[in-house]
Amino acid sequence: MLKMKFCGAAGEVTGSKHIIEFENIKIMLDCGLFQGRRSEAREKNLKFPFKYEDINAVIISHAHIDHTGALPILAKQGYSGPIYCNSITRELSEIMLRDSARLQETDAEFFNKIHEEEKIEPLYGQEDALKAISLFRDRDLPFEISNKIKVSFLNAGHVLGSSQILLEMDGVKVLYSGDLGREKQLLLNPPDFMSRPDYLILETTYGDREHPEISDAQEVLAAIIDTAFKRKSKIIIPGFSLERTQEIIYIIDKLKSAGKIPALPIYVDSPMSCEITKIFNERIFSDNFSNEFRTYADKDKDPFGYEYIRYISEKKDSQKLNETRGPMIIISASGMCEGGRILHHLRNSIENENDILLLVGFQAQNTLGRKLKDGEREVKIFGLKHEVYMEIKTLDFFSAHAGKSDLLAYVKKVNPKKGIFLVHGEESQRAGFAQTLKNEGFSDIFLPSYAQEYELKD
Ligand SMILES: [Zn+2]
Repeated sequence: MLKMKFCGAAGEVTGSKHIIEFENIKIMLDCGLFQGRRSEAREKNLKFPFKYEDINAVIISHAHIDHTGALPILAKQGYSGPIYCNSITRELSEIMLRDSARLQETDAEFFNKIHEEEKIEPLYGQEDALKAISLFRDRDLPFEISNKIKVSFLNAGHVLGSSQILLEMDGVKVLYSGDLGREKQLLLNPPDFMSRPDYLILETTYGDREHPEISDAQEVLAAIIDTAFKRKSKIIIPGFSLERTQEIIYIIDKLKSAGKIPALPIYVDSPMSCEITKIFNERIFSDNFSNEFRTYADKDKDPFGYEYIRYISEKKDSQKLNETRGPMIIISASGMCEGGRILHHLRNSIENENDILLLVGFQAQNTLGRKLKDGEREVKIFGLKHEVYMEIKTLDFFSAHAGKSDLLAYVKKVNPKKGIFLVHGEESQRAGFAQTLKNEGFSDIFLPSYAQEYELKD
């Protein structure tokens, strides 16, 4: 008997945790953090709908926090089993989990400083992150969890190191897409696929939407930079430290090399982005990267190091930016404005109509980034109200997720035999994609809800 239980990213985007049970062995695919409305996310992050003692192994698809960020909670509860992933994902996850713990701690500290009555505890701290990190096991080749369970990774083309996970359990094949990248993208090769697994667990972040062509991004970005230069604006970009930041820098590097933008300083104000960009540089000729990028990197030698870029690690240098006048570009984290130094830059610029907030990544429901994207006129930063005067711009080009037609092409190639479970999408996106699949003649499509369990005949 094969069982699946969906303990996150079921009808929403964050908190990915899918438990596959085969002959009493429970394997958790991803262990992500819920993000969004603070109290609701906190509640779900602290109460797992399963017992940590029952989990035999965890396998991680990629290093994003909504796929790894609950590992320190699992370790804090007492989980001491293995956490498998490939070596790039392990390296990146270590950086991101340490950073996540630091964010949890500093945000709680800051919140408690300005709130007299309401005090919060960080979800976890450095010690818990280190405990989780000690459980990681690199696996770059297929491996076995038991003599009947084989695991392999396929390129997912979503971020550096991202994988799809294939479980083969006594002949029954379950393919978990993790987060899937696009067919055409800036840095990476498109996703691989395997045909005819029994079941497919598929992400649907953009199940009902297409992205604009990535090749058009350069021109639009050049125009925004030009305006900012003339107006002496600060452009504040909440950049996901993993991939989006490097993509933006790579485009700016290309624009500058081609003489299409004026010279203005760029500050990458995030210690984590600095560390991650170092890994990108170390892995620059890895076969995760597309030929086009590798050719550029070979010619340019330093595709993430354009001469006006400063990578800022020290807090005091970050604070200095508050007093420094534009024009400039500040790329800072977190990508959905939920924590980190971006909040200080926003607090500093949000009431200044000359400054520009440039949203270049997915903004989940109820996050500060989403509220700003949706045009809310008043928002809270560190619990204090601010009116929004800065200009808000959104660039949709950069998604690291497959759009609707990429997803459909993928499902047609994979063509699972017995069923498709749709996860990691807000309700409208996955319902839309379920309908698309039905129209294309696919059946046995499941839309699991939070903590829902399925018993499947293998
Ligand atoms: Zn992801």
